[in-house]
This record gives sequence, C-alpha cells and structure tokens, in this order.
Amino acid sequence: MKKWLLRALLTAMYVVFLIPVFVIINTAATISGKSPDILISFMYPPKLKREIKESEKILNKDIAGLCSKLKCRRPFEVKVYAHTFDKEAFAYTLVLHYKKIFISRKLMLSLNREEMKCVLVHEIGHVLLETYNEFEADSFAAETAGKKPCVSMLTKIARLTNNDPSGKSEIAMRIHALKSKKK
Ligand SMILES: [Zn+2]
Repeated sequence: MKKWLLRALLTAMYVVFLIPVFVIINTAATISGKSPDILISFMYPPKLKREIKESEKILNKDIAGLCSKLKCRRPFEVKVYAHTFDKEAFAYTLVLHYKKIFISRKLMLSLNREEMKCVLVHEIGHVLLETYNEFEADSFAAETAGKKPCVSMLTKIARLTNNDPSGKSEIAMRIHALKSKKK
C-alpha cells in the first residue's frame, strides 16, 4: 500500500472513530460531574493533583459560607481543573441539575480570593435566578460580594481573553454595566 494512502486512511479512521469517542467520554464526564478534563486529568503530576485538591478545599469553604448567606436550597460544589493544559480561563455551571461549578485553574490562579467569590456568586446567581443572562448574574454577584472585586474580576477576565476592558466586547459591556450600577 502506498504511504500517503495509509496515512490518509489512518487520518480518516481517527476522525470517524476516535474524535466522537473522545467527545462522548468528555461530555459524559462533564455531565456526571467528573472533571471535564477526564481524558488528561489522570496524567496530571501528583503535585498538580495536590494543588487542585487544596484550592478546591478553600473554594468549597467559601461557597458554603456564601450559600448560607444566600440561602441556597442545596449545597454547591466547586471543581477545579487544569483545562487543556491551562490554556483557558473560565468558570461555568451545569445550571439545571448538578449545582457543580467548574473553574479552570488558569482563572483561579489569576484571581484573588475576593474576586473568586464574585465568580462563585455569579454562578450561584445563574442557578438561583434561573437565568442565562450574564448581566443579571453580574449584578447579583456585585450585591453579595461587592461591586469593586466584581469589576476587577471582570477586568482581569477581559484581559485574559484578549479583550479591551473598555472596548465593545460583551465582557467590556458587562464591566461598564457594573461600574454604572449605583451600589
Ligand atoms: Zn455567567
């Protein structure tokens, strides 16, 4: 068999078979509340695994405190993961079912504890207010965790995602909206 043909066949096999398998495993892992990085998380070095455990402990303590203040009906759980080798900085929640908040390690390392509380309350806000609206969740976060740390949290995220904090992107508009809030 010709070399290029073999290579083309292998590539086709990869696309047809392996990619869907990866997507299915990753989606299942995310939905069931395991790390979205399950396919590589077993390769995390022990030091990173320990570090992630430690940060999760602090974040879960903070969210328990915030939740008793906000009267969440069920406790939230925070999971940290080194998403695809720390490339991306973000947080998200599986809104409807799990009350698990996923935070990428890069985001965690970029924010201080007060700014991180804003992230947590923002995510709780999505669930408690049953909204996907970022502006509403931001406003909710500022009321509980303070406007100042929330503005600085969003500003850092803007920079991390290569957006100008005073530009025209959605994140810039969120910063502007929060800054013009009265309290
Ligand atoms: Zn949000």
